[in-house]
Formats: sequence, structure tokens, C-alpha cells
Amino acid sequence: MLIVNVGVLSDWQTAFADCLPGLRVCGWDDPGVDPGAVRYALVWAPTPGRLARFPNLELILSSASGVDHILKDPAWPAHVPIVRMVTPETGERMADYVTLAALALIRDLPQLIAGQRAACWQGHLTGRLASETRVGILGLGQLGIRVADRLAGVGFKVAGWSRSPKPGAAVESFAGPDALPALLARSDILVNLLPRTMQTRGILDAGALAALPQGAGLINVGRSDHLDAAALTAALDSGHLGGAVLDVFDAEPLPAGHPLWAHPKVLVTPHIASTPSQQARARQAAQNILAHREGRALAHLYDAVRGY
Ligand code: NAP
Repeated sequence: MLIVNVGVLSDWQTAFADCLPGLRVCGWDDPGVDPGAVRYALVWAPTPGRLARFPNLELILSSASGVDHILKDPAWPAHVPIVRMVTPETGERMADYVTLAALALIRDLPQLIAGQRAACWQGHLTGRLASETRVGILGLGQLGIRVADRLAGVGFKVAGWSRSPKPGAAVESFAGPDALPALLARSDILVNLLPRTMQTRGILDAGALAALPQGAGLINVGRSDHLDAAALTAALDSGHLGGAVLDVFDAEPLPAGHPLWAHPKVLVTPHIASTPSQQARARQAAQNILAHREGRALAHLYDAVRGY
């Protein structure tokens, strides 16, 4: 039996009936579910302690690409493998989003939107070329590589930063903490696509933002705790940074009245940069459940030693 705590249960049942007929799919709060019968759990931010109540759980399927929302539960059953949700759609959607965001930043879209609202004709906002804009991507994993390829195809000068070197990457590769200052110094636009780990938390602090070139833009699609939001606001207000596109926040939904909603240099989106369709997520989950049953390797397994 699979239990789910995200989305509409009947939609999941329909989606799994297509790709894994015979799998029983039940709701997280269904009082009729025998905890001992639950083998698989497909979850987003499970209530702390709940996963530990399924004694025969064999596989945890994250409904998102990150797993930080599961690891926040101090009682999560660490002996049970966690699979990240990475579908073919995930990278494509993220590449679409970051391309939109990067083009929005070089063409001053936040200021143009504010100008339209105020009926203000800002003919001086002619923007700059993608081909003269250097983009740095923090994280060259499943998503970062797709984003890098797409941005390079649009004409941006792209480099990426990761834990391990990427000698085969089509874009310039920086690796390890010592290489971060050089990556920041050459990033007219910085894209954050890191996972949330002990090492990456708070990485976008005042010092990192100050290391970006004058007028640089920031696209945060990683996690909110990578970024010092107060330092970002200060850097935007001082004119050091030219704009930001933010998809992830400490509190989601971002509370009404939060200053970021109205900041003239910021585009806010509601954590939608890359949410694959329910069918795509069900297909990936079904493939991993089948692989697990047949003793084959699982795709996109969380690695507790690396922390992502
Ligand atoms: P991934 O395949 O695990 O890639 C992570 C990348 O980060 C890898 O290149 C890794 O380096 C690098 N990295 C990790 N720790 C590092 C460190 N300490 N220093 C330098 N580089 C480090 O993850 P993914 O599938 O691309 O997803 C990345 C993140 O995107 C997710 O964790 C999630 O937070 C976020 N996300 C957001 C949305 C959204 O809608 N906003 C949607 C999906 C995902 P190596 O290559 O050397 O391992």
C-alpha cells in the first residue's frame, strides 16, 4: 500500500491506476489504514513523527526534488531509503523558469511592470544583451545542468559551481569552496540551485552578495534558508544589486504585507519554478516502486553521507 499526504487523493489514485495497476493508494489521514500494511509513502513536509509510525515502511518518495522537508522530522526512519522526485519534466520546467527570470532581469521587467502600473513611460530601460551577460549557477546537478544548457543556448555566458568538478560539462565549471569567490565575481546573474544541507545553508549572505558585480541580479530557486533576505533587501536598496527573482521563502505562502511583495526590484513567484504534473510524478514514483520490488537500483536516491 502507498499512502500520500499531498494533492488530491482521487487524482493520485487515477494516475497510479494508469502506471502501476494493482497498487492500493490511500490518504495519509484515512482512519481505515492499517499502519502495518503501508509499504510506500509519497510525501511533502510530513508531520514530525508520523513516518516513524509505519513499522513496515520500505520506501519514502519525496513529492519534490529536495528532501529537506522530510529531514526536518527528527524522527524520520533513517533506515528507509528516500527517493527524490526528479522527472524529465522537472528539468525542463526549471530551465523554462530560469530562462524567463534571467531575461526578465536583463530587460528590467520588475521596473517595467511597476512603470505600467503607474502609467510611467520608461523609454530609458533598454536593457542589455544576453550575449554580454555572465550567469553563474550554484549547483550543477540534475536541474543545474539543464538550466546551464538552456541559458547557453539563449546566448548567456554560463558557468556553474558544484562540490565536485565537472570536466565534461558544456559550461565553465568551478568546484569547491575555494572556487566560490571566482564564480561570484563573474556572475552578472547568480542562479541558486543548491540543495539545502548543513554546508549550503546561509551561503547567500551579505558577503556573497557583496562579491557579485555591481548591478548583478539574483534568481533564488533553491531554498529560502540559503539566502539572507535582509542582506538581499539591503543590497537591492543600496543599488549594489539590480534585481531579484525569488521563488522560495521562509514562510510559504509569503505573508500579505511582507516587504518583498512590493519591492520594485523584485519578482515574487509562489514556489512554482518546477512542479511536475501529477502524471509525471506518479510515473517516476511507480518506476521506483517497481525497481525496489525487483531489487534494482533506485533512481535519484538521497545520499545521507553527502546530505542531498
Ligand atoms: P542535485 O541533482 O542533487 O544537484 C545538487 C547540486 O548541488 C550538485 O551539482 C552538487 O554538487 C551541488 N552541491 C551540493 N552541495 C554542495 C556544496 N556544499 N558545495 C557546492 N556544490 C554543492 O539536485 P537537483 O535535482 O539539481 O535540485 C537542486 C535543488 O533545487 C533541490 O534540492 C531543491 O532545493 C531545488 N528545487 C527547487 C524547485 C522549485 O520549484 N523552486 C524545484 C525543484 C528543486 P555535485 O554535482 O558535486 O554533487
